[in-house]
Amino acid sequence: MAERYAVGIDLGTTYSCVAVWLEDKNRVEIIHNDEGNKITPSFVAFTDHQRLVGGSAKDQAAINPQNTVFDAKRLIGRKFSDPIVQKDILLWPFKVISGVNDKPMISVKYKGQEKLLCAEEISSIVLTNMKEIAEAYLESPVKDVVVTVPAYFNDSQRKATMDAGAIAGLNVMRIINEPTAAAIAYGLDKRANCEGERNIFVFDLGGGTFDVSLLTIKGDVFEVKATAGNTHIGGEDFDNRMLNYFVEEFKRKNKVDITRNPRALRRLKTACEKAKRTLTFKSLASIEIDNLFEGIDFSSSITRVKFEEINMDLFNECMKTVESCFTDSKMDKSSVDDIVLVGGSSRIPKVQKLLRDFFNGKYLCKSINPDEAVACGAAVHAALLSEGLKNVPNLVLRDVTPLSLGISINPGIRAMDVVIPRNTSIPVKKAKGYGTPKDSCGVSIEVYEGERASVADNNLLGSFILFCPGVPGDMPVEVCFTIDENGILTVSAKEKSTGNKNEITITNDRERLSTEEIKKLIEEAREYHAEDERFLRKAKVMNELDDCIYKLTNALKNEDVKSNLSSHKIKKINLAITKATNLLDKNKHQNELHVLENHLKGLESILEDIEIKNG
Ligand code: ADP
Ligand code: MG
Repeated sequence: MAERYAVGIDLGTTYSCVAVWLEDKNRVEIIHNDEGNKITPSFVAFTDHQRLVGGSAKDQAAINPQNTVFDAKRLIGRKFSDPIVQKDILLWPFKVISGVNDKPMISVKYKGQEKLLCAEEISSIVLTNMKEIAEAYLESPVKDVVVTVPAYFNDSQRKATMDAGAIAGLNVMRIINEPTAAAIAYGLDKRANCEGERNIFVFDLGGGTFDVSLLTIKGDVFEVKATAGNTHIGGEDFDNRMLNYFVEEFKRKNKVDITRNPRALRRLKTACEKAKRTLTFKSLASIEIDNLFEGIDFSSSITRVKFEEINMDLFNECMKTVESCFTDSKMDKSSVDDIVLVGGSSRIPKVQKLLRDFFNGKYLCKSINPDEAVACGAAVHAALLSEGLKNVPNLVLRDVTPLSLGISINPGIRAMDVVIPRNTSIPVKKAKGYGTPKDSCGVSIEVYEGERASVADNNLLGSFILFCPGVPGDMPVEVCFTIDENGILTVSAKEKSTGNKNEITITNDRERLSTEEIKKLIEEAREYHAEDERFLRKAKVMNELDDCIYKLTNALKNEDVKSNLSSHKIKKINLAITKATNLLDKNKHQNELHVLENHLKGLESILEDIEIKNG
């Protein structure tokens, strides 16, 4: 396919999706994976023999729970000691430990050895898989992509996502916010038949994160007015609530606790997710699992009402976020023209009801596919950023920064002094004046993000010192914050009397990967990939060998064929078959590729001989 294209990837907590803008066709297509699905589970698994990604990783989760990693997006850009991480760890069957500088590291067994991986590496494997899905469809390499993140992702989470892209060998042209991407997908369809201004409210409730954004579309301009969210609420939490509910029921009925058995938990959780989906269109869902724990079968059911009850506080939490978005935007909810539902969990009837009630019964738009809209918008944005692509729709995107950014300059007080308030349009540059401290040869500048008054409650992004020896107290210092299109921050400070200047892009915060580390991980990723390919080649040769053995064995059952062969020859063929069979039966994964290939060649030539002799 020699056409020109641009690629967008929705890297989700539970599912990922890849879309491509095709110049010739003048539209976006969602690409199916090799299993024929448009969304791919964000799962990576490690076994004694291979690494698995996507559906094949998820499918074997119950038999290999400790080495099947999911939810990496819930870890990315966070510290191990983060209370959210600590809470998640209790529910994950895989092991997470604290690495250098409090960086969470996932510990798995791969080919018999312990391996430590950071969340960026797991995400890079998922990204590589999405890239390969696109490459298989386009029959051409993919390098430049747009990747989406939740609007409410903070600076560290955004940068860590960029790093994941780099490890996957991708050039991440831009990181864009998921609800904004969905609005592009929605708005492109809509604006053809709308005049003037249109206010769109995007409600994006996925597997792990929740975002809302309020946008105005006017002509070609898509302008985000406000955004709010929670990077830790979604379908996974609803599943976990149901899981706990059934764990308790099992305990009551059978007097045993299954929580320490990862395999049983995984099987029950998979059943819970299925039941949850059923409850979207039915009022009752049943669960049947044979031999769930110590030979005990589990059979139970849950009503939609019960499901809503055990999740009601989470649903209410979502509605509070919706309200805060309107408070921030100073827009009245009655001026919203379209309410757009995005993310798999936006299908939950109770969630839709609460949302409809909030908007006083207004109709919720369901014209776009909630699983695909984000990737679609990302692909359109990628097309906009790709030079020289024709037929790309005209649009200008103006997004906002989700969290307030500021500094603490007085070490005694540690108050947050906001330089850029949340929901400010980006890119943006803002300067603020301060004074030099008395009796000190420098100003220590600590950069934070968050909404709390004390910096102790906010997130430290980085710090630096502006040296100004010999400068008396209270001389003017200018601190300047710049946020680029990706939402990534640079801070500089200048002491005006001497002109001393210092600047940081907040890239070197302690838990972030260094350029050296990324380089190393890129190398490692290539190596893993080469190993995966060797594994697949081996699997293919083994299959072919199996096929050859089958054909030869069958041929020898045929008297006509046999009569054309000497008894010596028949003996030789039988020996070759036995050898090859043994090879496949015993330690099949330990065989060297070339040994398998040699046997295959041998058998193939025998088979060819026989076929020629017998016409
Ligand atoms: P993410 O992008 O965070 O991975 P998605 O937008 O792909 O999430 O949504 C996945 C989540 O949506 C999962 O938790 C899944 O169980 C949930 N989901 C999908 N379909 C339904 C449905 N019909 N009813 C309820 N939840 C659903
Ligand atoms: Mg999503």
